[in-house]
Amino acid sequence: MGTMIALISAELAVASVLYILSLESQSMFSTVQWVMTSLGYTIGAIIAGSLSMLWIEQMHHHRGLEQHLSEVHHRYIAETEKLNQILNAVPLSIATVDKEGTVQFVNDTMEQTARDQLPCTTTPDLIGHPASQFVEQAQADKMETGIQKAIVHGEVSGLTVRYGSHVFQSRTVPLYSFSKEYPREVTGAMLIIQDITELEMLRSELDNVDRLSLVGQMAASITHEVRNPMAVVRGFLQLMQEKSPQSLDHYYRIVLEELDRANSIINDFLSLAQNRIAEKEESQLHDIIHELSPLLWADANLRGQSIEFKLAHNVPKLHLNSKEIKQVVLNLARNGMEAMNEKGILTLETRVVDDTVELCVRDTGPGIPPGKHEKLFEPFFTTKAKGTGLGLSMCLSIVERHNGRITVESEENQGTTFKVTFQR
Ligand code: ADP
Ligand code: MG
Repeated sequence: MGTMIALISAELAVASVLYILSLESQSMFSTVQWVMTSLGYTIGAIIAGSLSMLWIEQMHHHRGLEQHLSEVHHRYIAETEKLNQILNAVPLSIATVDKEGTVQFVNDTMEQTARDQLPCTTTPDLIGHPASQFVEQAQADKMETGIQKAIVHGEVSGLTVRYGSHVFQSRTVPLYSFSKEYPREVTGAMLIIQDITELEMLRSELDNVDRLSLVGQMAASITHEVRNPMAVVRGFLQLMQEKSPQSLDHYYRIVLEELDRANSIINDFLSLAQNRIAEKEESQLHDIIHELSPLLWADANLRGQSIEFKLAHNVPKLHLNSKEIKQVVLNLARNGMEAMNEKGILTLETRVVDDTVELCVRDTGPGIPPGKHEKLFEPFFTTKAKGTGLGLSMCLSIVERHNGRITVESEENQGTTFKVTFQR
């Protein structure tokens, strides 16, 4: 607009100057001529102005398009980069192959997997080579078939590939072209490979556990049955003891004691083997401890020891099986008392730490040498002449069933603390 007004004004000015000059020089330049000239100039100016406006508009449009294109380009690069990052972050090995089965793209995980099998492999070593080249000969044909199935028939297929000590689960998926006008066409295939070595190991371990659990159940039922004849033998032994001369009493006592020991091994074993899901309910840990305290005091009095209770006030209710937790407390307390001599002090303490509740059973005994800490929870590990070595393994199995943890802290000649941690 500005340019047009300027042009018209300039033309009018030029025409006026010419007119004034013609008046002064008394030339033939008449008013009609002046009007005609100015009109000519004005029309010329209008045409020139319109053309320049059109040109400016075109330029403006072009600029807009260019800006839009640059924005789309940047967005495209950002999205591609994001997609690349996602592909590299997933814990799956991903590769794409073209219609000839030649590798076109591999993500970082695939590069790492390839490097684990063939050291010093880099992405350029993989790209441009047939995918089947990177698996053992026995699996190469199967992989080739999978790729062909995807490319020719658009089918998805799966395959378990063994490479060295590793097991991989491979899935082949067809890749389609992206075009709105033309029908979808297969342009290649995508290989998704997952390392399932650990899963396979777990699976075979689980089979073992099943078998062991069956053996455990059988052992439990046999042991249970052994208790009945033992009770009969014990009863008759007592009868015979009464009718035998006093001189044989010593032998009878030993036999009876050994029978009792066998019976306590069976009892401990049975509670250990009972790994069925015990019913739990909201219970107060302190109620369990209070119920046990007369029993603990009686035991301690017999040994000349004493017990201290340091129970926190703010212990919340926990999801527990009271019967089992009683066994844990009793076992830990008995172990503590058995470890201490006369005048020993056993402390039962509860604490709330963050979102956990801790139960500590502390003794003033001789402590446990550091080398033996790992062995403590193994079944049948005992240092006592009449021990069964099943107490702590039973405690561990119960605490684990309660999603808790059990730890030991011990200092030689100072004492030992067993700490049971429950989640709130
Ligand atoms: P047992 O009491 O029948 O020996 P446990 O499984 O209860 O079986 O304990 C295993 C072993 O752990 C004990 O024989 C003992 O050597 C050691 N132990 C357990 N608790 C303590 C403790 N508080 N102080 C010292 N040693 C302990
Ligand atoms: Mg014990």
